[in-house]
Amino acid sequence: MSNNYTKSNSIDIEFDRDHIWHPYTSMLKPLPNYPVTHARGTRLHLASGESLVDGMASWWSALHGYNHPRLNRALQEQSEKMSHVMFGGITHAPAVELCKKLIAMTPAPLDKVFLADGGSVSVEVAIKMALQYWFSQGHTQKHKIMTPRKGYHGDTFAAMSVCDPVNSMHSMYRGFLPEQIFVPQPQSAFNGEFNEQEADELAHYFAEHHGDIAAFIIEPIVQNAGGMNFYHPAYLKAVRALCDQYDVLLICDEIATGFGRTGKLFAVEHADISPDIMCVGKALTGGYMTLAATLTTDKVARGICSGEAGVLMHGPTFMGNPLACAVANASLSLLQENDWQQQVGNINLWLQQLTRCTEFDAVVSVRTLGAIGVVELDTNVDVAKIQRFFVANGVWIRPFGKLIYLMPPFVSSEQDIETLCNAIYQAIAEKHY
Ligand SMILES: *Cc1c(COP(=O)(O)O)cnc(C)c1O
Repeated sequence: MSNNYTKSNSIDIEFDRDHIWHPYTSMLKPLPNYPVTHARGTRLHLASGESLVDGMASWWSALHGYNHPRLNRALQEQSEKMSHVMFGGITHAPAVELCKKLIAMTPAPLDKVFLADGGSVSVEVAIKMALQYWFSQGHTQKHKIMTPRKGYHGDTFAAMSVCDPVNSMHSMYRGFLPEQIFVPQPQSAFNGEFNEQEADELAHYFAEHHGDIAAFIIEPIVQNAGGMNFYHPAYLKAVRALCDQYDVLLICDEIATGFGRTGKLFAVEHADISPDIMCVGKALTGGYMTLAATLTTDKVARGICSGEAGVLMHGPTFMGNPLACAVANASLSLLQENDWQQQVGNINLWLQQLTRCTEFDAVVSVRTLGAIGVVELDTNVDVAKIQRFFVANGVWIRPFGKLIYLMPPFVSSEQDIETLCNAIYQAIAEKHY
């Protein structure tokens, strides 16, 4: 099997370094990029012949591992029918099946689906929906978005405007980036006591700004790329209640948390609430292709379409891509068949090994939720240095800032998780950061 790949093993890393942007990297001082030739199950195979246990699920997405026969087959079969066809004036079975599935899985009032080609676009669409909704009702002054600090919602401009203003360097785009209203980051820990002062503070912001606010956008329960903060469900409940009280739409960005990652199918279930608009993405296709969706309620959809425009003003070229929809359908079926609750429950149990890391002075906190494990250090990690150590020790983990974290594929074995946790422990013990 590996012989098939050895012929294509020569990846021109020098060309890559000199000409190709990678996520959030410098062209002057690029971080090293490891050439991967193929991946199977929970293993990434390097051109050097080594294989790594995957701790990242390729940014929350590869739930069922790599090169999965069922997902491969879904793509193959769909490609023999049609890989793509425009969605304007045309529909097809993979899209209809997917939207039925999404409506059935998500909280009840969400029953209108917009298929977007990536997470950031689905956030743009969510914001557009909220603005168009209030515009159609004649509330033209409701044109701002409120959101907590330390959030992350994507890299396009409207999405970036609701990311943490410091992490996302808003100052660099001043005058171009829309200025939104930020409330304090949720503080009370997921499984601690809820500090009622947080709700009071939120109420103050809503009372002051609701006249200008179209929507409140938040990552439910876990603030992800903004700092892996697991916050108290009562915060989200308070946000829902205030949105209702002050006529503000609630957008929940489930792009990272959706499809079981936090131990619930969707993180909003921890707080027993449902949003007016919900974004899903990342794990939607099991890590195979880019696809996201923005769901909303009948009420919001009616509001938008009964207004002056009469339509939702958005329609990407690759909307509802049949290949992406087909592989998403197969992935969602697998999720149910594999008993994701059991998988995530086991991973959470195995991730408890990370608590050993609290013995080091440099470790500020160790926390887990569902299939997410986080070790927070008291200093920023040298990514190139620690990754060299991890790769040499057979694992793929990519920290950011002060955070070394795991969000492995749901199909990871106990041995996989142990290998990942041990590598983190060793890296800290031997100060490879
Ligand atoms: C990754 C992410 C996005 C952006 O999705 P892309 O597919 O990278 O555009 C938005 N919101 C959250 C919470 C994310 O984790």
